[in-house]
Amino acid sequence: MTRDDYHAHHARCPKCLSDDIEQTTAGPIEIPGKPYQDNVNDARCQNPGCGWSGKVSGLQPRSHAIVNRMIDPDTGESFKETNLKKTHGIPIGKLVELMPRTDPEHGGVRLYVVAHTRDCDGTPLYAMSATKSDTEARQPGFANPSWEHGWTEENLMECDS
Ligand SMILES: [Zn+2]
Repeated sequence: MTRDDYHAHHARCPKCLSDDIEQTTAGPIEIPGKPYQDNVNDARCQNPGCGWSGKVSGLQPRSHAIVNRMIDPDTGESFKETNLKKTHGIPIGKLVELMPRTDPEHGGVRLYVVAHTRDCDGTPLYAMSATKSDTEARQPGFANPSWEHGWTEENLMECDS
């Protein structure tokens, strides 16, 4: 990853998605031909209503369109190609508890997995419903109003009953 790639991939606040971020610039020097990795600089969101602060490495990508074209140096393929190879680990019909890591206000609810979808960058996503048989999209390509959708596997906990 070049320096430009790195900063395109770490440009927006993970809490409010603002791109108005103050960053410290000390640290790594870009060496031509070598992967660029910033893991030392601090970042602070300038959105007064947000107040997030952390490391530059914790920032979100500038846009999915850029990320989709970016090549992962470890695999030699785009991040989207890598994501499209990931499969859904939780089967349809499974009861799950919503366990959001970043937004505890939406946690603690149990619903049934009713659809497997993908983000525009290929990441596997899940749709859940309170009705186990609510698995048919009424309008193909769109989530039903009864669905809670767009969740990643890391924010879902499988339940036995
Ligand atoms: Zn923010």
